Amino acid sequence: MVKGLVGFILGGLLTFGATQAAELDVVATSSSMGALARTIGAERAQVTVLASPDRDLHMLQAKPTMIRALRDADLVVAVGAELEVGWLPVAIASAGNPRILPGQPGYFEAAAQVDLLEVGLPANRALGDVHPVGNPHVNMDPVRMAIVASALGERMALLDPAGAETYRANARSFAAATEQRMNAWQARLAGAPGVILYHRDALYLLDRFGVPLLGTIEEIPGVPPTAQQIKALSEHLQGRSGVIVYAPYMSAQAPERLAKGLGWEARRLALDPPIGADGGGYLDHIDLWVDTLSHAR
Ligand SMILES: [Zn+2]
Repeated sequence: MVKGLVGFILGGLLTFGATQAAELDVVATSSSMGALARTIGAERAQVTVLASPDRDLHMLQAKPTMIRALRDADLVVAVGAELEVGWLPVAIASAGNPRILPGQPGYFEAAAQVDLLEVGLPANRALGDVHPVGNPHVNMDPVRMAIVASALGERMALLDPAGAETYRANARSFAAATEQRMNAWQARLAGAPGVILYHRDALYLLDRFGVPLLGTIEEIPGVPPTAQQIKALSEHLQGRSGVIVYAPYMSAQAPERLAKGLGWEARRLALDPPIGADGGGYLDHIDLWVDTLSHAR
């Protein structure tokens, strides 16, 4: 009770609109993680999201506002697999909150709950590869997200036993809502011609639904392409159908040049839902991607 009250006052700036002290103060790195935390925590959790979907999680820097948010957090929900390695460990260390240190119950990584793709590839770390321990972008697979939701529900139950049944029930509801949309998604993506991604960030979605990845604008994750690489990609895919998708923080130059060369559409599409999204907002975000991939020409 006392702890909850203090958390509410200190967190007042970030949790504007809260009418009562929540049982769990949750800080999520991305809006996908925030959506899960909101859906599972419901009225028992207040959720702060550190990065809006127009920011590149690989490239953020620790900021005072993040450190303030982390100072009173009961639980950090990160994507993990080194996606936030450049800034989250620094921000957590600066926050001086031992409950959210890695290895503690207050630190949770989505990527640690599921099988990862692209594990054990030769990592070009020296060249600037930002996926040295496997592909971290698990938030783009709704099925993996349902598994993460279940694990997150258990973690919240551990931290707040009085809410255990609520958290578990909410995680089950999210899994059911996901399951309900799967058949329609599968049907819409059957026969989709494929996609060129800028970065290997939607790989989990493509893998889940069998949509071909026709190429990537970056050859090595995190390393900008050369004009020669774009030209080679364009020549290689002449006469084929597809769509080019790139994140809001990527330069439009290479995608647009490639789109012109191939006669395809280049779409700028976020990897995470709007910052205030809940579980339904996350599923709508996947819907938007399905829409884009299924309309490729
Ligand atoms: Zn990445």
